[in-house]
Amino acid sequence: MRRHRSSKPSCDRFDGRRSTLTAPEQSKEDDVGSDSTSTSPAGPRSAAVRIGIDIGGTKTEAVAVDGCGRVLYSVELPTVPGPRAVIDTAVAAANRVAELSHVAMSGLDAIGVGVPGTVNTVTGEVQHALNLGVTRLDLGNQLAQRFGSTVRVDNDVKAAALGAYRVMAVRNSMAYLNLGTGTAAGIIVDGRVLRGAKGAAGEVGHIPIDPGGARCPCGQRGCLETVASGSGIARQWSTDDPYPVRALLAAAAGGDLAARAVQRRLVEGIASAVRVLVLTVDVNAVVLGGGLTRLGRTLIGEVHGVLAGWAESSPFLESLNLPGRLMLVPEGSHAAAVGAALLGDDGSWKS
Ligand SMILES: [Zn+2]
Repeated sequence: MRRHRSSKPSCDRFDGRRSTLTAPEQSKEDDVGSDSTSTSPAGPRSAAVRIGIDIGGTKTEAVAVDGCGRVLYSVELPTVPGPRAVIDTAVAAANRVAELSHVAMSGLDAIGVGVPGTVNTVTGEVQHALNLGVTRLDLGNQLAQRFGSTVRVDNDVKAAALGAYRVMAVRNSMAYLNLGTGTAAGIIVDGRVLRGAKGAAGEVGHIPIDPGGARCPCGQRGCLETVASGSGIARQWSTDDPYPVRALLAAAAGGDLAARAVQRRLVEGIASAVRVLVLTVDVNAVVLGGGLTRLGRTLIGEVHGVLAGWAESSPFLESLNLPGRLMLVPEGSHAAAVGAALLGDDGSWKS
């Protein structure tokens, strides 16, 4: 597998936010840059264009970025479940963003893909991406054949961590805590993705916090994920709303005591995950992202409050300033797709 060799342009601090994306739609394109002969708002296109694809449970997003990870163009399509449809959608989104960028997919040094599930970063094979309707898929090789280029595949949370690290210009170390259907973190140390012996680094959602708690799909009992995740909320709060977190927060705001109790466990669970990440890796920042944060941005203030409360009773925690390390990934930052485009850039890639 080839390594990407890019000239390293000097990259100013930037944020990858675009101005127009507000919510997922059926299909959208975003011209962040301009035509091929002028400069984008983010700065000159000083290095080769790279393409990143984030395959999510509801949408597939492709971005074209410059050598500094600045978004030039993005395209978003609804994800269709099933192995063949997942690949076709990724190909369609990437081809369109390449067309907008005036580059040929076959001419790119490498294309990066972030995808849920267990990913073998050497073979590009994906397993157990259940919300994509995929139990096993040779994603890397199949996309490489379609594009005529090298394709790097990684777990979506790890890719998003790499993207958030670049987009938010965090220094040294950072954890990206993804609060979606499940709960997991991607950890960056000295600019590199921390993977661990078996790729389990950052799986904080499966740290048991309540021996008498609910059985987790992982087989343990009382995992953090059983209270602090979209699936955990759906289990505890039955509703017809397709977004149980939204229904829960509305009920809690309306004074429902049971809803408030579930929300309290959710907030304390998120705060616990932040504490675990700081106490184990002492990351400079814990960046929250994922669908749950988009639905409940007010939760962040509550997490902040819980962390501040713990500091009041613990001089040790107070000295670590947990609330001061909490950050939120900017809406519309394309962090996951940007991170996919940058896969291999951090030197942690196995080849
Ligand atoms: Zn578990």
